[in-house]
Amino acid sequence: MKLTSKMIKEKAKELGIDIVGIGNIERYKEAPPLMNPKNYFPEAKSVIVTAMRIPRGTYRGIEEGTHWHNYTYYAYNRLNTLYRPRLTYALACFIEDHGWEAVPNYPAVPERNPNREPVAEGKLPADIVTSIRIMGVGAGVGEMGHSKVFLTKKFGPRVRLGSILTDAVLEPDPMIEPGTICNSCGRCVRDCPGNAIPPIKDEDKKITIKVGDKDITWGDVHMGRCTLTHHGFNNMISPFHKKDFPNMAFDAANSDVTEEEAYKLTYPMATGTWGPTLFYGKTSRVLNYYDYVMNHVGYFAVCGARGCIRACMDNLERTNRIENTFNNKFYNKKSWIIPNERQEEKGKINPWREEWLDEHYPGIRKNEY
Ligand code: SF4
Ligand code: SF4
Repeated sequence: MKLTSKMIKEKAKELGIDIVGIGNIERYKEAPPLMNPKNYFPEAKSVIVTAMRIPRGTYRGIEEGTHWHNYTYYAYNRLNTLYRPRLTYALACFIEDHGWEAVPNYPAVPERNPNREPVAEGKLPADIVTSIRIMGVGAGVGEMGHSKVFLTKKFGPRVRLGSILTDAVLEPDPMIEPGTICNSCGRCVRDCPGNAIPPIKDEDKKITIKVGDKDITWGDVHMGRCTLTHHGFNNMISPFHKKDFPNMAFDAANSDVTEEEAYKLTYPMATGTWGPTLFYGKTSRVLNYYDYVMNHVGYFAVCGARGCIRACMDNLERTNRIENTFNNKFYNKKSWIIPNERQEEKGKINPWREEWLDEHYPGIRKNEY
């Protein structure tokens, strides 16, 4: 049955997908084995990549320092795992209605895979996950920014991506020339509270790969620092961390933990409990606010992409490098940041016990050792 790129794009538009691009499978031939789409759909001929916008207003609560749920729900967790995949699924069904197989990709990350044993001798490990951003570059949807964030001509960094592999041969879109959107302004570097994005001029911290006939380059982001900061193990963007760990001024911005170590540190803060604090009238959660957001929206994104998305989009809007602009500027005052220092001397052994006793029995702890 006939299926063309034009038909797919019209259907995507009808479904409410903001951007769609198509690449031929040959553009990804240099992908490493465990990231190569051919290694889980050898008959694939085309890669369809969709982008859905992150509404600019989802950043507002974090920018004000007053509300974290909106960004986590509408711009991160549910946009990635519900709104966008629902339309990817519908587009895949449309393709299959025309007699061509369609593989919709869930936005998995390889580092979460607990079991990668090959199913039989001679097979590759069961650990293949394509890089959605590289798929997007090859499909002409956008380019890699210096920050490693995917940039589109219409929305800049405010997108989440999806992809479908198909055995239909489709007319490919031209790839975007690197440097069309990212102007190497360095705002992402300067405004990243995790010090995770390398300086623009640091040639040793650049990654370059080949997609189609183009060299694609971006900054080698320190994922341990980014993950610590993204999940709020960084006082500079987390008043909550500072409140529940008043004596800790951990230097996330100069830490050398790996991404995995950072996850092991940060997730238990939102999900773990420490019973004794209950007695002193506090929640037993290790970090109360993260548990609260996590329970409501299934995830907790604390940094809110202060440098890599918020500052970047501001630069792209101001320099007229993207199409989706607004009547008002995003920043109407200086963006807040918290100094990474101990707020005050609080307790020696258990600040909550000491605070409780001092309030209820003033003086009773005198000469305690
Ligand atoms: S802020 Fe955006 S446009 Fe500027 S260097 Fe970073 S990625 Fe490029
Ligand atoms: S999410 Fe935050 S810490 Fe990570 S790169 Fe973006 S601005 Fe930096």
